[in-house]
Amino acid sequence: MSHTKLFIPGPVEVSPKTTQALTRPMMGHRSKDFQALYGRIMPMLQQVFSTSQPVFLSTSSAWGVMEGSIRNLVTQKVLNCCCGAFSDKWYDVSLACGKQAEALKVEWGQPITAEMVDERLAAGGFDAVTLVHNETSTGVLNPLKEIAAVVKKHPGVSLIVDTVSSFSAVPTPFDELGVDVMLLGTQKALALPPGMALFAISDAALAKAATVKDRGYYFDFVEFRKNADNLMTPSTPVIPLIYALESKLEDILAEGLEPRYARHAALNDLVHGWVRRQGFEFLAPEGYRSKSLTCVKNNLGIDTAKLVSIMKKDHAMAIDGGYGKIKGTTFRLSNMGDETAETIGELIAALDDSIRKL
Ligand SMILES: *Cc1c(COP(=O)(O)O)cnc(C)c1O
Repeated sequence: MSHTKLFIPGPVEVSPKTTQALTRPMMGHRSKDFQALYGRIMPMLQQVFSTSQPVFLSTSSAWGVMEGSIRNLVTQKVLNCCCGAFSDKWYDVSLACGKQAEALKVEWGQPITAEMVDERLAAGGFDAVTLVHNETSTGVLNPLKEIAAVVKKHPGVSLIVDTVSSFSAVPTPFDELGVDVMLLGTQKALALPPGMALFAISDAALAKAATVKDRGYYFDFVEFRKNADNLMTPSTPVIPLIYALESKLEDILAEGLEPRYARHAALNDLVHGWVRRQGFEFLAPEGYRSKSLTCVKNNLGIDTAKLVSIMKKDHAMAIDGGYGKIKGTTFRLSNMGDETAETIGELIAALDDSIRKL
């Protein structure tokens, strides 16, 4: 079907194969058929999460599980690492949940470092940290491994990590990292439609959640675990998306995780090459740049709204003209999901043409 192809950093383009999978006939979610479906998906999810823990399916966008993590795991005070729109909002959500929260804030475009987290935690009083691995609004990839290692030095502190736009684009090995919650939404690097979140939790986090009052029902980690042990979900799940997830996981494992990571890195390099050739700069510093999207600094002062509009009108491609307070001073190009050297080549050719027309 002719449509505007998505190169925005989520939702991203969904393949015809995935769309087809969404249309399989419905089944009862308390049936053996559903258990068989979840049973087929579970080991594939565990492979991509690189975990022996069960992986949970939440019928919500990522924010449901982000808020749920706060409600399940914060009893004293949470340190929210804030470096862009999504991570900043997590601080507001913590407060909205009635929790004690402190923001570790850096300028948009800058990364959170392990030293910063260590220093704040050393002050004491915290029992949770939130981190957005890949801050989609600024194109910053935070040093998750180093931060996870530092949080481990502080016993009793749960590390809650949003891998919404990094999961399956770069390695995020759950067990090896030793994080407590890792969550993502389906509409970013997995290239599925929006509407479902996936997450894993550590044994320590589950044990803690079981002792926490007022964690609610819909995102209760204990309920998720109890149901998943029986290959079910607490409430009626978005079955079409689960069909699509099965189809996508088969593709991911057929491609192989390492080749998938390498493909994202190579496509990201192609976009970066275009950025440099045009004389643009990057918002994120070298060494902290996302592999799944590029946040371009508009140092040339082009009319980004016009660029977005020409890309759509003349090339039927959607790119993003910058998020929130950096709209216009930046723009963003996604290379996550099912893209190939050919499709990113088409994006670049369209960008070149559109820039000429500005
Ligand atoms: C897109 C995104 C979210 C929000 O996801 P929703 O699906 O809108 O809940 C959260 N975090 C990051 C890093 C994102 O890129």
